[in-house]
Amino acid sequence: MTDTPTQLFIGGAWVDAADGATMAVDDPATGEILCQVADAGPKDAQRAEDAAVAAQEKWARTAPRARSEILRRAYEIIVERTDELAHLMTAEMGKPLAEARGEVAYAAEFFRWFSEEAVRIDGGHGTLPDGRNRMLLSRRPVGPCLLITPWNFPLAMGTRKIGPAIAAGCTMVLKPAPQTPLSSLALAAILKEAGLPDGVLNVVTTSRAGEVCEPLLRGGRIRKLSFTGSTGVGRLLLAQSADAVVRTSMELGGNAPFIVFEDADLDKAVDGAMVAKMRNMGEACTAANRFFVHTSVVEEFGRRLAERMGALVVGPGTRDGVDVGPLIDRNGRGKVEELVADAVERGARVLVGGRTPEGPGCFYPPTVLTGVDPDSRLMDTEIFGPVAAILTFDDEAEVVRRANDTPWGLVGYVFTEGLDRALRVSERLEVGMVGLNTGLVSNPAAPFGGVKQSGLGREGGRVGIDEFLEYQYLAVPVG
Ligand code: NAP
Repeated sequence: MTDTPTQLFIGGAWVDAADGATMAVDDPATGEILCQVADAGPKDAQRAEDAAVAAQEKWARTAPRARSEILRRAYEIIVERTDELAHLMTAEMGKPLAEARGEVAYAAEFFRWFSEEAVRIDGGHGTLPDGRNRMLLSRRPVGPCLLITPWNFPLAMGTRKIGPAIAAGCTMVLKPAPQTPLSSLALAAILKEAGLPDGVLNVVTTSRAGEVCEPLLRGGRIRKLSFTGSTGVGRLLLAQSADAVVRTSMELGGNAPFIVFEDADLDKAVDGAMVAKMRNMGEACTAANRFFVHTSVVEEFGRRLAERMGALVVGPGTRDGVDVGPLIDRNGRGKVEELVADAVERGARVLVGGRTPEGPGCFYPPTVLTGVDPDSRLMDTEIFGPVAAILTFDDEAEVVRRANDTPWGLVGYVFTEGLDRALRVSERLEVGMVGLNTGLVSNPAAPFGGVKQSGLGREGGRVGIDEFLEYQYLAVPVG
C-alpha cells in the first residue's frame, strides 16, 4: 500500500485536490480505513478536462503503432505485477485473491486486445452510384471522453474503456467509484510508466460524482461519455448528455435469467450456476438473478446447488482457501438481507445460508432459495450478492416469456442438450449475450453489452473501438 498513488492524476502529474479534501477508502473485510485519497471537486475536474482537451489534437495525430505499443507495454507491466495489483484490489473491494488475480488477467487482456486493434482502424474508398463523385471514408477519434466506472471490477472496467480510447486516439477523464479508487490510480501510474503522454489520461477520484461530472457533460468540450453502472444513474447521465449532444455508451444493470430445461446436463448446469451466480460474490451485472428450473429437475438441481454453495468458504479475501469475500459495504449487504427477508416472507424456502454472520466486515453467506414467489422483490431487483433464487416452469414458451418480462436485457443463460431448443430459446431471449451451457460470457475479444435498459453500445470485441471513433466522409469529384 505504501507505493500506491493516492492523489489525483492530472496532466501527467500527481496533485492534491484544489481544496485539499480527502476521502477514506475502507477495507470491506474489516470495516477499517485503508488510506485516504484525494477527493476532487468541480475545479479539479475542470483542470482534468483542460488537460484532456489540450492533449487531444496531438494525441489524435500519434501514429497508431505508437499508441498500440503503449498499450502493449502496459499489458506486460500489468501481467508482471499481477500479485501486487490483486492484493490492492482485494484490499479495497474484498474479492478473494484468486478472483482478483483472475480480474487482473482479464483487465490486462483488454490492453492486449486493443493494442492489436489500434493498428487496424480502417476507412474506405469508392465511387458513388452516380459515377460523379468518389467517396473517401476515414475514421477519427471522437474527442475527449469522460469515463465513469463502478466498484465491482475496479481494474477491468477501467481497461475496457481506456484500452479502446487509447487505441482510437482519444484523451480521457476517468472517474472511478469512490469505494475502489486505488486500482484506477495504480493503472494510471502503469500507463505513465508505459509511455502514455501527459494529459491523455486524467483520473479524478471523488465522493462528489454529480458535482464533478455534470459540468463536464453539459460543458460541450467532452465529446463522449462511457459509463458502466446502474440503470438509474445511466438514465440520469443520458439526460445530462443531451444538452451538448454527447455521444454515449452505457453498460448498465442486468437481471439475468438462468434457465435449466428438463434435458439439461445437470453437472454442466450446476457448474454453470456456480460461476454465473458466484463470480465476484454475485456482485456482477452478469450475475444469474432468476433461476428458472424445469419442475422435473428442480429438486435435484436445488439440492446439488445448495451442497456446492454450502461448501464455499467465506472470509477475508486475503486468507488462503477463501472462496467468498465480503460484500462491498454495509449498504450492499443490507440490500441483500432485505431481498432475502422479503422472499422468505412470501414463502421461499432457504436451502442453505440466509443468515448474516456476527462480527466485523460485510460478509453474507452463499444462499439458495427455492419456491420463490414471482412477485418477490428480488425478481425485479439486481440482488448483487451470493443468493440464488429458484423458481419453476413447465413449458418452453412460458419460460421465455417470463425470462423476457423485465426491463433489462444484458445476458441470459440456457442449459439444454437439445440443439434446436438451444438455438430457438437463445434467439428468443431479449438479451445482448447468451451463455449456452456455460456460466461465463465475458471475454475481451467478444462484444459485451445489453439491450433494453441494460445499455447502449458494446465494449470489447472488434466493435469495441467503434464507440470511440467517428466517420468522416469526403466527397471528391471524379476528374
Ligand atoms: P452506480 O451507483 O450506478 O455507480 C457507478 C458509477 O457512477 C460510480 O463511479 C458512481 O460514483 C458514479 N455515479 C453515480 N451517480 C453519478 C452522477 N450523478 N454523476 C456521475 N457519476 C455518478 O453503480 P455501482 O453500484 O457502482 O455498480 C453496480 C452497478 O453497475 C450494477 O447495476 C451493475 O449491474 C452495473 N454494472 C454493469 C456492467 C455492465 O457492463 N453492464 C458492469 C459492471 C457493473 P458514486 O458511487 O460516487 O456515486
